[in-house]
Amino acid sequence: MSHSGDDDALAPATRVAHLGLDPQRFDGFVNPPVVRGSTVLSPTYKDLVNHTGRYSYGRRGNPTTEALQNAITALEGGDGTVLTPSGLSACSVALLSVVGAGDHLLMVDTVYRPTRNVCDKLLKRMGVETTYYDPLIGAGIADLIRPNTRAIFLEAPGSQSFEMQDVPAITAVARERGIFTLIDNTWATPLFFKPHSFGVDISIQAGTKYLGGHADLNLGTISAVGKAWTQVLATHGDMGICVSPDDAALGSRGLRTLAVRLERHQTSALEVARWLTASPYVSRVLHPGLESDPGHAIWKRDFTGATGLFSLILKPVPEAAYATFFDSLKLFGMGYSWGGFECLAIPFDCAEYRTATEWKVEGPAVRLHIGLEEPADVIADLSQALEKMAARAAAAA
Ligand SMILES: *Cc1c(COP(=O)(O)O)cnc(C)c1O
Repeated sequence: MSHSGDDDALAPATRVAHLGLDPQRFDGFVNPPVVRGSTVLSPTYKDLVNHTGRYSYGRRGNPTTEALQNAITALEGGDGTVLTPSGLSACSVALLSVVGAGDHLLMVDTVYRPTRNVCDKLLKRMGVETTYYDPLIGAGIADLIRPNTRAIFLEAPGSQSFEMQDVPAITAVARERGIFTLIDNTWATPLFFKPHSFGVDISIQAGTKYLGGHADLNLGTISAVGKAWTQVLATHGDMGICVSPDDAALGSRGLRTLAVRLERHQTSALEVARWLTASPYVSRVLHPGLESDPGHAIWKRDFTGATGLFSLILKPVPEAAYATFFDSLKLFGMGYSWGGFECLAIPFDCAEYRTATEWKVEGPAVRLHIGLEEPADVIADLSQALEKMAARAAAAA
């Protein structure tokens, strides 16, 4: 039997091992071939004019891209999936699918910063007005809706600051009024949160992160249901967006180990986060999987897991000591993106760009990605970097 992972009664780890595969189509080879091609030939005139083939043209899909699309559709429980060349293009194509001139968009203030640029520049130029809203607004979103509000965009937890959103409260308001909802679900992936089950029309993943999992790929996925799916498919087609078969194959390869990797990211990140909450140099840890986190109750109600990305607020230190912390890390790389096998750390300050909410914190902020390394080694690295930071701060005092 093909597509054996399609049975959604099976556990996620079982499903991702099989989804999208159809070995008998490819002489028994487990994975579909990496098909390079633009032209698809038809055997007869009649086949050509009646479009009888499974594929029509390279840009519109081939066995390699189709395998990944089918897998994501099954995992998300949507009506269909399109692939895009990056996570950001998935966000912009999804937005362009549902809004146009004269429309109003509600965008969560804690959205991934480049998505904000799409609203403030591209969408603005096209005549779409954006209002940013507080991630904690819940059903209060109703007060921001105007007659021309066409879509509400969510991201949970919030980018960098990890606030949880009450997704079902927001989708209930949207559904009543025929407003589209979209979510950037990159942090949880469909393994730990299923947007369509909570009433979200469009579920976006930066496949660059956990799906790829190895810091060697940029990819985006858009899964959608109902009318939203029809519009996403059409817009993606009209824009001529397509993904290389090599990148689709890397996405499919990443999918096979997604469940085991996420399990490890989850347990290691929680262990490191708990250790950090007890550190004398740390003021707070922002991680919805921690019982002490303000978003924990919602996370526990709606999500089935937490991944490896979270933040912390240090107790106040001079900038030179903050820099010493980063420069002293040995296992953690400093760089953007995350979701790969390795630990990463970046400084951030949400006050630079948020407009609907105030970002007032008691000390400098750090975002960590906990990779697949041994947690004891990760903790030892953080410990020595925090000690060096403290020594530098004491020397400056
Ligand atoms: C990284 C990221 C993106 C963008 O993915 P790219 O492949 O870098 O374009 C979008 N949303 C979130 C939440 C991300 O973390």
